[in-house]
Amino acid sequence: IWADVLGYVRKNISEVEYHTWFAPLKNLGVQDGSLVLGVRNSFAQEWLRKQYQGLLEDALRSLGAQHPQVSFQVLPAAQDALLLPSDPPPGPPPTPGRPAAPVPVDNRKTLNPKYTFENFVVGPNNNLAHAAALAVAESPGKAYNPLFVYGDVGLGKTHLMHAVGHYIAERFPDKRIEYVSTETFTNELINAIREDKTTQFRNRYRSVDLLLVDDIQFLAGKERTQEEFFHTFNALYENHKQIILSSDRPPKDIQTLEGRLRSRFEWGLITDIQSPEYETRVAILKMNAEHNRIDIPQEVLELIARQVTTNIRELEGALMRVVAFSSLNNVPFSRAVAAKALSNVFAPQEVKVEMMDVLRQVASHFNMPPDVIRGSGRVREVVIPRQVAQYLIRDLTDHSLPEIGQFFGRDHSTVMHAINKVTEQLGKDTELTAAVEMLRRKMKG
Ligand code: ADP
Ligand code: MG
Repeated sequence: IWADVLGYVRKNISEVEYHTWFAPLKNLGVQDGSLVLGVRNSFAQEWLRKQYQGLLEDALRSLGAQHPQVSFQVLPAAQDALLLPSDPPPGPPPTPGRPAAPVPVDNRKTLNPKYTFENFVVGPNNNLAHAAALAVAESPGKAYNPLFVYGDVGLGKTHLMHAVGHYIAERFPDKRIEYVSTETFTNELINAIREDKTTQFRNRYRSVDLLLVDDIQFLAGKERTQEEFFHTFNALYENHKQIILSSDRPPKDIQTLEGRLRSRFEWGLITDIQSPEYETRVAILKMNAEHNRIDIPQEVLELIARQVTTNIRELEGALMRVVAFSSLNNVPFSRAVAAKALSNVFAPQEVKVEMMDVLRQVASHFNMPPDVIRGSGRVREVVIPRQVAQYLIRDLTDHSLPEIGQFFGRDHSTVMHAINKVTEQLGKDTELTAAVEMLRRKMKG
Protein backbone atom coordinates (compact mmCIF):
# COMPACT_ATOMS: atom_id res chain seq x y z
CA ILE A 1 0.00 0.00 0.00
CA TRP A 2 2.89 2.38 0.67
CA ALA A 3 3.65 2.67 -3.03
CA ASP A 4 -0.04 3.48 -3.63
CA VAL A 5 0.01 6.10 -0.91
CA LEU A 6 3.05 7.71 -2.49
CA GLY A 7 1.39 7.54 -5.90
CA TYR A 8 -1.66 9.36 -4.57
CA VAL A 9 0.44 12.00 -2.82
CA ARG A 10 2.57 12.58 -5.87
CA LYS A 11 -0.45 13.39 -7.99
CA ASN A 12 -1.53 16.06 -5.54
CA ILE A 13 1.62 18.07 -4.92
CA SER A 14 4.51 19.53 -6.86
CA GLU A 15 7.58 17.49 -7.78
CA VAL A 16 9.78 19.64 -5.58
CA GLU A 17 7.55 19.09 -2.59
CA TYR A 18 7.42 15.40 -3.30
CA HIS A 19 11.15 15.00 -3.52
CA THR A 20 11.79 17.17 -0.52
CA TRP A 21 9.32 15.64 1.86
CA PHE A 22 8.02 12.31 0.66
CA ALA A 23 10.82 10.60 -1.21
CA PRO A 24 13.02 10.41 1.91
CA LEU A 25 10.28 8.94 4.12
CA LYS A 26 10.71 5.42 5.43
CA ASN A 27 7.70 3.18 5.86
CA LEU A 28 8.04 1.70 9.34
CA GLY A 29 4.84 -0.31 9.13
CA VAL A 30 1.59 -0.20 11.03
CA GLN A 31 1.61 0.17 14.81
CA ASP A 32 -1.59 0.38 16.85
CA GLY A 33 -3.60 1.03 13.74
CA SER A 34 -1.44 3.92 12.66
CA LEU A 35 0.87 4.03 9.68
CA VAL A 36 4.29 5.00 11.06
CA LEU A 37 6.65 6.92 8.82
CA GLY A 38 10.31 7.51 9.61
CA VAL A 39 11.61 11.02 9.06
CA ARG A 40 15.16 12.30 9.20
CA ASN A 41 14.78 15.03 11.80
CA SER A 42 12.32 16.82 13.99
CA PHE A 43 12.02 19.69 11.58
CA ALA A 44 10.76 17.35 8.85
CA GLN A 45 8.50 15.69 11.39
CA GLU A 46 6.89 18.93 12.40
CA TRP A 47 6.57 20.10 8.83
CA LEU A 48 4.97 16.91 7.57
CA ARG A 49 2.57 16.86 10.47
CA LYS A 50 1.52 20.45 9.85
CA GLN A 51 1.36 20.43 6.09
CA TYR A 52 0.74 16.94 4.85
CA GLN A 53 -0.90 14.82 7.51
CA GLY A 54 -4.32 15.44 5.98
CA LEU A 55 -3.11 14.57 2.52
CA LEU A 56 -1.65 11.28 3.74
CA GLU A 57 -4.88 10.41 5.51
CA ASP A 58 -6.82 11.21 2.36
CA ALA A 59 -4.50 8.88 0.49
CA LEU A 60 -5.20 6.06 2.94
CA ARG A 61 -8.92 6.75 2.78
CA SER A 62 -8.82 6.58 -1.00
CA LEU A 63 -7.30 3.12 -0.57
CA GLY A 64 -10.19 1.99 1.57
CA ALA A 65 -9.03 2.71 5.12
CA GLN A 66 -11.90 3.51 7.48
CA HIS A 67 -10.10 5.48 10.13
CA PRO A 68 -6.78 6.41 8.60
CA GLN A 69 -4.06 7.45 11.00
CA VAL A 70 -0.54 8.53 10.25
CA SER A 71 2.28 9.28 12.63
CA PHE A 72 5.89 10.32 12.17
CA GLN A 73 8.92 9.08 13.97
CA VAL A 74 12.38 10.60 13.84
CA LEU A 75 14.95 8.04 12.71
CA PRO A 76 18.12 7.61 14.76
CA ALA A 77 20.97 9.81 13.68
CA ALA A 78 22.97 7.11 11.90
CA GLN A 79 20.18 6.72 9.39
CA ASP A 80 19.56 10.41 9.26
CA ALA A 81 19.54 11.14 5.58
CA LEU A 82 21.27 13.92 3.80
CA LEU A 83 18.99 16.17 1.90
CA LEU A 84 19.23 13.61 -0.83
CA PRO A 85 16.80 11.63 -2.91
CA SER A 86 15.16 8.63 -1.46
CA ASP A 87 16.33 5.09 -1.11
CA PRO A 88 15.21 2.44 -3.56
CA PRO A 89 11.45 1.90 -3.48
CA PRO A 90 10.35 0.41 -0.17
CA GLY A 91 9.65 -3.30 -0.04
CA PRO A 92 6.28 -4.77 0.81
CA PRO A 93 4.97 -3.30 4.03
CA PRO A 94 4.93 -5.63 7.02
CA THR A 95 1.60 -7.21 7.86
CA PRO A 96 -0.36 -4.90 10.12
CA GLY A 97 -0.44 -5.92 13.76
CA ARG A 98 2.79 -7.86 13.64
CA PRO A 99 6.13 -6.19 14.33
CA ALA A 100 8.41 -5.79 11.34
CA ALA A 101 10.72 -8.75 10.78
CA PRO A 102 14.17 -8.20 12.30
CA VAL A 103 16.71 -6.90 9.83
CA PRO A 104 19.17 -9.66 8.87
CA VAL A 105 22.53 -9.14 10.50
CA ASP A 106 24.68 -7.45 7.95
CA ASN A 107 27.06 -4.93 9.33
CA ARG A 108 26.98 -2.78 6.26
CA LYS A 109 23.37 -2.01 7.08
CA THR A 110 24.71 0.30 9.74
CA LEU A 111 26.30 2.45 7.06
CA ASN A 112 24.24 5.36 5.81
CA PRO A 113 23.92 4.85 2.03
CA LYS A 114 24.27 8.58 1.49
CA TYR A 115 27.58 8.92 3.25
CA THR A 116 29.85 8.01 0.35
CA PHE A 117 33.02 9.50 -1.09
CA GLU A 118 31.04 10.60 -4.14
CA ASN A 119 28.76 12.67 -1.95
CA PHE A 120 31.61 14.21 0.00
CA VAL A 121 32.62 17.66 -1.19
CA VAL A 122 36.35 18.19 -0.76
CA GLY A 123 37.60 21.63 0.23
CA PRO A 124 40.63 23.13 1.93
CA ASN A 125 38.93 22.49 5.28
CA ASN A 126 38.80 18.73 4.90
CA ASN A 127 41.16 17.71 2.12
CA LEU A 128 43.76 16.15 4.39
CA ALA A 129 41.19 14.09 6.26
CA HIS A 130 39.65 13.11 2.94
CA ALA A 131 42.99 12.06 1.46
CA ALA A 132 43.85 10.05 4.55
CA ALA A 133 40.46 8.34 4.50
CA LEU A 134 40.89 7.47 0.85
CA ALA A 135 44.37 6.10 1.46
CA VAL A 136 43.04 3.92 4.25
CA ALA A 137 40.15 2.77 2.09
CA GLU A 138 42.56 1.75 -0.64
CA SER A 139 44.91 -0.19 1.57
CA PRO A 140 43.18 -0.97 4.83
CA GLY A 141 45.50 -1.86 7.67
CA LYS A 142 48.52 -0.67 5.73
CA ALA A 143 48.37 3.07 5.16
CA TYR A 144 47.65 4.57 8.57
CA ASN A 145 46.47 2.60 11.55
CA PRO A 146 44.57 3.84 13.36
CA LEU A 147 43.24 6.81 11.44
CA PHE A 148 42.04 9.41 13.91
CA VAL A 149 39.76 12.14 12.57
CA TYR A 150 38.72 14.99 14.80
CA GLY A 151 36.68 18.16 14.39
CA ASP A 152 33.61 19.98 15.65
CA VAL A 153 30.14 18.58 15.33
CA GLY A 154 28.46 18.55 11.94
CA LEU A 155 31.61 18.81 9.85
CA GLY A 156 31.58 15.38 8.21
CA LYS A 157 33.49 12.98 10.46
CA THR A 158 30.77 10.35 10.45
CA HIS A 159 30.22 10.84 6.75
CA LEU A 160 33.89 10.21 6.03
CA MET A 161 34.03 7.07 8.17
CA HIS A 162 31.01 5.60 6.44
CA ALA A 163 32.56 6.48 3.10
CA VAL A 164 35.54 4.27 3.91
CA GLY A 165 33.12 1.53 4.92
CA HIS A 166 31.25 1.71 1.62
CA TYR A 167 34.43 1.80 -0.37
CA ILE A 168 35.81 -1.32 1.26
CA ALA A 169 32.45 -3.08 1.22
CA GLU A 170 32.23 -2.59 -2.51
CA ARG A 171 35.70 -3.87 -3.32
CA PHE A 172 35.95 -6.61 -0.74
CA PRO A 173 32.44 -7.96 -0.26
CA ASP A 174 33.50 -10.53 2.29
CA LYS A 175 35.27 -8.14 4.65
CA ARG A 176 33.52 -7.64 7.94
CA ILE A 177 32.82 -4.01 8.65
CA GLU A 178 31.57 -2.70 11.95
CA TYR A 179 30.49 0.87 12.55
CA VAL A 180 29.65 1.73 16.13
CA SER A 181 29.25 4.86 18.16
CA THR A 182 31.17 4.92 21.41
CA GLU A 183 27.87 5.17 23.19
CA THR A 184 26.56 1.99 21.58
CA PHE A 185 29.84 0.22 22.26
CA THR A 186 29.53 1.17 25.90
CA ASN A 187 25.89 0.12 26.17
CA GLU A 188 26.52 -3.18 24.48
CA LEU A 189 29.37 -3.86 26.81
CA ILE A 190 27.22 -3.08 29.84
CA ASN A 191 24.53 -5.43 28.55
CA ALA A 192 27.05 -8.12 27.76
CA ILE A 193 28.42 -7.94 31.27
CA ARG A 194 24.95 -8.05 32.77
CA GLU A 195 23.88 -11.00 30.65
CA ASP A 196 27.17 -12.78 31.07
CA LYS A 197 27.94 -12.59 27.37
CA THR A 198 31.25 -10.81 27.33
CA THR A 199 32.82 -13.58 25.26
CA GLN A 200 30.33 -13.04 22.44
CA PHE A 201 30.86 -9.31 22.72
CA ARG A 202 34.63 -9.75 22.39
CA ASN A 203 34.42 -12.19 19.53
CA ARG A 204 32.17 -9.89 17.64
CA TYR A 205 34.43 -6.84 17.81
CA ARG A 206 37.69 -8.70 17.56
CA SER A 207 36.78 -10.52 14.37
CA VAL A 208 36.09 -7.55 12.13
CA ASP A 209 38.29 -6.33 9.29
CA LEU A 210 37.35 -2.69 9.61
CA LEU A 211 36.25 -1.11 12.85
CA LEU A 212 34.80 2.40 12.80
CA VAL A 213 34.27 3.93 16.21
CA ASP A 214 32.52 7.28 16.27
CA ASP A 215 32.81 10.00 18.92
CA ILE A 216 35.54 8.29 20.91
CA GLN A 217 35.72 11.31 23.22
CA PHE A 218 32.84 9.65 25.09
CA LEU A 219 35.28 7.06 26.37
CA ALA A 220 36.39 9.73 28.81
CA GLY A 221 35.83 8.59 32.37
CA LYS A 222 34.51 5.13 31.40
CA GLU A 223 37.21 2.92 32.82
CA ARG A 224 35.67 -0.45 32.13
CA THR A 225 34.88 0.47 28.54
CA GLN A 226 38.37 1.82 28.04
CA GLU A 227 39.79 -1.43 29.34
CA GLU A 228 37.67 -3.45 26.94
CA PHE A 229 38.38 -1.18 24.04
CA PHE A 230 42.09 -1.39 24.74
CA HIS A 231 42.02 -5.15 24.22
CA THR A 232 39.82 -4.86 21.14
CA PHE A 233 42.22 -2.34 19.72
CA ASN A 234 45.24 -4.54 20.34
CA ALA A 235 43.63 -7.63 18.89
CA LEU A 236 42.71 -5.82 15.69
CA TYR A 237 45.93 -3.89 15.41
CA GLU A 238 48.08 -7.00 15.78
CA ASN A 239 46.13 -8.63 12.99
CA HIS A 240 46.58 -5.60 10.73
CA LYS A 241 42.91 -4.80 10.77
CA GLN A 242 42.02 -1.21 10.05
CA ILE A 243 40.69 1.00 12.82
CA ILE A 244 39.21 4.47 12.29
CA LEU A 245 38.28 6.68 15.19
CA SER A 246 36.50 10.01 15.29
CA SER A 247 36.37 12.55 18.06
CA ASP A 248 35.51 16.17 18.63
CA ARG A 249 39.08 16.80 19.85
CA PRO A 250 42.57 15.35 19.46
CA PRO A 251 43.59 12.45 21.72
CA LYS A 252 45.75 14.65 23.93
CA ASP A 253 42.70 16.75 24.85
CA ILE A 254 40.48 13.85 25.87
CA GLN A 255 40.47 14.05 29.63
CA THR A 256 40.66 10.93 31.76
CA LEU A 257 41.69 8.79 28.85
CA GLU A 258 44.16 6.14 29.90
CA GLY A 259 47.68 6.89 28.77
CA ARG A 260 48.08 3.57 26.99
CA LEU A 261 44.95 4.22 24.92
CA ARG A 262 45.97 7.77 24.15
CA SER A 263 49.35 6.68 22.91
CA ARG A 264 47.74 4.01 20.72
CA PHE A 265 45.43 6.59 19.20
CA GLU A 266 48.53 8.52 18.27
CA TRP A 267 50.26 5.58 16.58
CA GLY A 268 48.72 6.15 13.20
CA LEU A 269 47.66 9.42 11.65
CA ILE A 270 45.76 12.21 13.33
CA THR A 271 43.93 14.56 11.02
CA ASP A 272 41.31 17.23 11.52
CA ILE A 273 38.34 18.72 9.73
CA GLN A 274 37.74 22.45 9.98
CA SER A 275 34.69 24.55 9.23
CA PRO A 276 34.14 24.80 5.50
CA GLU A 277 35.09 27.95 3.65
CA TYR A 278 32.48 29.87 1.77
CA GLU A 279 33.25 28.20 -1.58
CA THR A 280 33.00 24.75 -0.05
CA ARG A 281 29.69 25.65 1.54
CA VAL A 282 28.31 26.78 -1.79
CA ALA A 283 29.54 23.55 -3.40
CA ILE A 284 27.86 21.44 -0.73
CA LEU A 285 24.58 23.28 -1.18
CA LYS A 286 24.83 22.90 -4.91
CA MET A 287 25.37 19.17 -4.67
CA ASN A 288 22.44 18.87 -2.33
CA ALA A 289 20.16 20.84 -4.61
CA GLU A 290 21.20 18.76 -7.60
CA HIS A 291 20.62 15.49 -5.82
CA ASN A 292 17.17 16.70 -4.90
CA ARG A 293 16.52 17.96 -8.38
CA ILE A 294 15.79 21.37 -6.94
CA ASP A 295 16.43 24.06 -9.47
CA ILE A 296 17.64 26.88 -7.29
CA PRO A 297 19.65 29.86 -8.52
CA GLN A 298 23.31 30.12 -7.57
CA GLU A 299 22.80 33.49 -5.89
CA VAL A 300 20.29 31.98 -3.50
CA LEU A 301 22.72 29.22 -2.59
CA GLU A 302 25.32 31.91 -2.03
CA LEU A 303 23.05 33.76 0.32
CA ILE A 304 22.44 30.60 2.34
CA ALA A 305 26.16 29.86 2.40
CA ARG A 306 26.82 33.29 3.84
CA GLN A 307 24.26 32.92 6.58
CA VAL A 308 25.27 29.52 7.86
CA THR A 309 28.96 29.34 8.34
CA THR A 310 30.05 26.70 10.79
CA ASN A 311 28.02 23.52 10.67
CA ILE A 312 27.17 21.53 7.55
CA ARG A 313 24.16 19.91 9.09
CA GLU A 314 22.72 23.37 9.72
CA LEU A 315 23.64 24.40 6.22
CA GLU A 316 21.51 21.56 4.87
CA GLY A 317 18.73 22.49 7.26
CA ALA A 318 18.78 26.06 5.99
CA LEU A 319 18.41 24.89 2.40
CA MET A 320 15.46 22.78 3.48
CA ARG A 321 13.84 25.77 5.11
CA VAL A 322 14.20 27.87 2.00
CA VAL A 323 12.71 25.11 -0.15
CA ALA A 324 9.87 24.65 2.30
CA PHE A 325 9.19 28.35 2.52
CA SER A 326 8.99 28.91 -1.21
CA SER A 327 6.91 25.83 -1.88
CA LEU A 328 4.48 26.74 0.88
CA ASN A 329 4.10 30.31 -0.31
CA ASN A 330 4.22 29.18 -3.90
CA VAL A 331 6.88 31.72 -4.84
CA PRO A 332 9.99 31.09 -6.93
CA PHE A 333 13.38 31.00 -5.26
CA SER A 334 15.01 34.39 -4.88
CA ARG A 335 17.43 36.05 -2.54
CA ALA A 336 14.59 37.94 -0.89
CA VAL A 337 12.59 34.78 -0.32
CA ALA A 338 15.61 33.00 1.10
CA ALA A 339 16.42 35.88 3.39
CA LYS A 340 12.88 35.82 4.65
CA ALA A 341 12.81 32.07 5.10
CA LEU A 342 15.96 32.23 7.18
CA SER A 343 15.19 35.41 9.04
CA ASN A 344 13.56 33.71 12.05
CA VAL A 345 16.31 31.21 12.42
CA PHE A 346 19.32 33.30 11.76
CA ALA A 347 18.17 36.83 12.53
CA PRO A 348 20.28 37.22 15.65
CA GLN A 349 23.36 36.32 13.70
CA GLU A 350 25.33 39.16 12.25
CA VAL A 351 25.93 39.41 8.57
CA LYS A 352 28.98 37.32 7.82
CA VAL A 353 31.63 39.02 5.78
CA GLU A 354 34.27 37.18 3.80
CA MET A 355 37.82 38.33 3.10
CA MET A 356 37.12 38.50 -0.60
CA ASP A 357 34.09 40.76 -0.02
CA VAL A 358 36.16 43.22 1.94
CA LEU A 359 38.90 43.20 -0.65
CA ARG A 360 36.41 43.83 -3.45
CA GLN A 361 34.77 46.70 -1.61
CA VAL A 362 38.07 48.32 -0.78
CA ALA A 363 39.23 47.82 -4.36
CA SER A 364 36.17 49.47 -5.78
CA HIS A 365 36.41 52.35 -3.34
CA PHE A 366 40.01 53.04 -4.29
CA ASN A 367 39.26 52.28 -7.89
CA MET A 368 41.88 49.61 -8.22
CA PRO A 369 41.76 45.92 -9.25
CA PRO A 370 41.72 43.54 -6.23
CA ASP A 371 44.75 41.70 -7.58
CA VAL A 372 46.82 44.83 -7.56
CA ILE A 373 45.97 45.40 -3.92
CA ARG A 374 46.94 41.85 -3.15
CA GLY A 375 50.01 42.09 -5.35
CA SER A 376 53.52 43.09 -4.44
CA GLY A 377 53.42 46.79 -5.37
CA ARG A 378 55.00 49.08 -2.77
CA VAL A 379 53.87 52.49 -3.94
CA ARG A 380 51.72 54.50 -1.56
CA GLU A 381 48.65 54.31 -3.83
CA VAL A 382 48.62 50.54 -3.39
CA VAL A 383 49.94 50.27 0.14
CA ILE A 384 47.19 52.38 1.72
CA PRO A 385 44.29 50.37 0.24
CA ARG A 386 46.10 47.16 1.18
CA GLN A 387 46.47 48.30 4.77
CA VAL A 388 42.85 49.39 4.90
CA ALA A 389 41.72 46.04 3.51
CA GLN A 390 43.76 44.15 6.09
CA TYR A 391 42.48 46.36 8.87
CA LEU A 392 38.85 45.89 7.83
CA ILE A 393 39.21 42.13 7.38
CA ARG A 394 40.57 41.84 10.88
CA ASP A 395 37.74 43.99 12.13
CA LEU A 396 34.86 42.41 10.24
CA THR A 397 35.76 38.74 10.02
CA ASP A 398 36.94 36.06 12.41
CA HIS A 399 40.14 35.42 10.51
CA SER A 400 43.42 35.29 12.38
CA LEU A 401 46.46 37.36 11.48
CA PRO A 402 48.23 34.40 9.83
CA GLU A 403 45.13 33.65 7.75
CA ILE A 404 44.88 37.24 6.61
CA GLY A 405 48.58 37.20 5.87
CA GLN A 406 48.19 34.10 3.75
CA PHE A 407 45.34 35.69 1.82
CA PHE A 408 47.64 38.58 0.95
CA GLY A 409 50.71 36.41 0.43
CA ARG A 410 52.41 37.97 3.44
CA ASP A 411 53.23 36.97 6.97
CA HIS A 412 51.24 37.84 10.06
CA SER A 413 53.65 40.51 11.29
CA THR A 414 53.11 42.50 8.09
CA VAL A 415 49.38 42.35 8.72
CA MET A 416 49.85 43.45 12.29
CA HIS A 417 51.95 46.35 11.10
CA ALA A 418 49.24 47.35 8.60
CA ILE A 419 46.57 47.25 11.27
CA ASN A 420 48.66 49.39 13.60
CA LYS A 421 49.28 51.89 10.84
CA VAL A 422 45.60 52.31 10.07
CA THR A 423 44.71 52.47 13.77
CA GLU A 424 47.24 55.27 14.26
CA GLN A 425 45.80 57.27 11.39
CA LEU A 426 42.16 56.94 12.41
CA GLY A 427 40.93 60.25 13.75
CA LYS A 428 43.97 62.07 12.39
CA ASP A 429 43.57 61.48 8.68
CA THR A 430 39.97 62.52 8.05
CA GLU A 431 39.80 61.20 4.52
CA LEU A 432 41.05 57.80 5.58
CA THR A 433 38.76 57.76 8.60
CA ALA A 434 35.74 58.56 6.45
CA ALA A 435 36.66 55.86 3.95
CA VAL A 436 37.10 53.23 6.66
CA GLU A 437 33.80 54.15 8.31
CA MET A 438 31.94 54.18 5.03
CA LEU A 439 33.31 50.77 4.04
CA ARG A 440 32.59 49.31 7.42
CA ARG A 441 28.99 50.49 7.31
CA LYS A 442 28.54 49.23 3.80
CA MET A 443 29.65 45.75 4.70
CA LYS A 444 27.95 45.46 8.07
CA GLY A 445 24.67 46.39 6.39
P1 ADP B 1 30.00 14.93 12.27
O1 ADP B 1 30.06 13.44 12.36
O2 ADP B 1 31.36 15.54 12.10
O3 ADP B 1 29.22 15.57 13.35
P2 ADP B 1 28.44 14.36 9.93
O4 ADP B 1 29.36 13.42 9.24
O5 ADP B 1 27.28 13.78 10.63
O6 ADP B 1 29.25 15.31 10.92
O7 ADP B 1 27.97 15.46 8.86
C1 ADP B 1 26.83 16.29 9.05
C2 ADP B 1 26.08 16.44 7.75
O8 ADP B 1 26.86 17.19 6.84
C3 ADP B 1 25.81 15.12 7.07
O9 ADP B 1 24.54 15.17 6.46
C4 ADP B 1 26.89 15.01 6.02
O10 ADP B 1 26.50 14.25 4.90
C5 ADP B 1 27.10 16.46 5.65
N1 ADP B 1 28.49 16.72 5.23
C6 ADP B 1 29.55 16.91 6.03
N2 ADP B 1 30.67 17.14 5.32
C7 ADP B 1 30.30 17.11 4.02
C8 ADP B 1 31.00 17.31 2.79
N3 ADP B 1 32.31 17.57 2.76
N4 ADP B 1 30.30 17.21 1.64
C9 ADP B 1 28.99 16.95 1.67
N5 ADP B 1 28.26 16.78 2.79
C10 ADP B 1 28.89 16.85 3.96
MG1 MG C 1 29.26 12.25 13.84
